[in-house]
Amino acid sequence: MKSEKPVPMLDLKRYDEALRQDIARRVDEVFATGKFVMGPANDEFERSFAEEVGVAHAIGVTSGTDALLVSLMALNIGPGDEVITSPFTFFASAGAVARLRATPVFVDIDPVTFNLDPARLEAAITPRTRAIQPVHLYGQCADMDSIQEIAVRRGVTILEDACQAVGATYRGASAGVLGNLAAFSFYPTKNLGAAGDAGAVTTNDPELAAVVRSLRMHGSSATYHHDRIGGNFRMDAIQAAVLNAKLPRLAGWNERRRQIAARYAERFADAAQQGSLVLPREADDRRHVYHQFVVRVPDRDGVRARLSERGIGSAVFYPIPLHLQDCFVDLGYHHGDLPESERAAKEVVALPVFPELTENEIDRVADAVLASIP
Ligand SMILES: *Cc1c(COP(=O)(O)O)cnc(C)c1O
Repeated sequence: MKSEKPVPMLDLKRYDEALRQDIARRVDEVFATGKFVMGPANDEFERSFAEEVGVAHAIGVTSGTDALLVSLMALNIGPGDEVITSPFTFFASAGAVARLRATPVFVDIDPVTFNLDPARLEAAITPRTRAIQPVHLYGQCADMDSIQEIAVRRGVTILEDACQAVGATYRGASAGVLGNLAAFSFYPTKNLGAAGDAGAVTTNDPELAAVVRSLRMHGSSATYHHDRIGGNFRMDAIQAAVLNAKLPRLAGWNERRRQIAARYAERFADAAQQGSLVLPREADDRRHVYHQFVVRVPDRDGVRARLSERGIGSAVFYPIPLHLQDCFVDLGYHHGDLPESERAAKEVVALPVFPELTENEIDRVADAVLASIP
């Protein structure tokens, strides 16, 4: 029984040789030009990423976190302002808001899509609400038509947290054009990953684009003239070079993630029918890019322990909803306030879904899951 190699949750060392060579060549080019910051590789990446998303402006930045932060700064969000977001997400979604001394306001999720529930949104809007920041969690877009309708009617801006959703679509439009601004992450584990930290902001608004460009260079429009207070949020040229090599592969990788998800769905269909596992659901009008393949199971921690005994990797995104984080106690939330997020935090488990998984590995994960659930 023993001796089979473990299946990791993620393996960033599985590179095909052609890609590895293309990356090496492009990184060499950066060294040859000596333009390590804001060089031609960055211009090329911003052009091709904007084209990929179908958006007018893409601005390369240091990380997904900084993409959120600089977007909020561009909207002039600060003390006294409220930004509505999901409590069931990576910390940065709310951390960026709090760093500007604005107040994150958490609205519970739709238990089917794990995304901010528009039905609960309107009640959370106050005269202080400046922005709604939906998170396209796990690679599936939030219900943007409903969110947009409310945002437009109530006069608030939308900032998409698209960090997990590069290539995802909603009614044919890509994540990144579904609000006023969007933040992307190219952290190595994301669907499009750099060789370190990197991110991007996208927008169709030329004024917001200009403000973001200025803010990532300390708010300077001309050298040593500062119109506003920004920071250093520039993407390294080496990261841009890596991303230029990888971007043409993105669509294929996302397709492969969808295939793996379809294979899991097939293998788990009976278990789902019997109620021993809940499959992720792709909404009709959306293209899910499965940044994570997440199921719900009873006795989640027991299931994970049994998977681990069989050498199968898994992960939990996210075990503690943000409204219950210690650093946010002053916001005044309590256990039970956002029950769907709290329930999801106890029930979800993510399975390996990275594009380089082999068919054999996918089946071994599926076998192990079926043997681990009641
Ligand atoms: C990864 C991620 C971020 C932050 O991106 P970094 O590049 O790691 O700073 C923000 N929001 C969500 C939903 C993410 O998954």
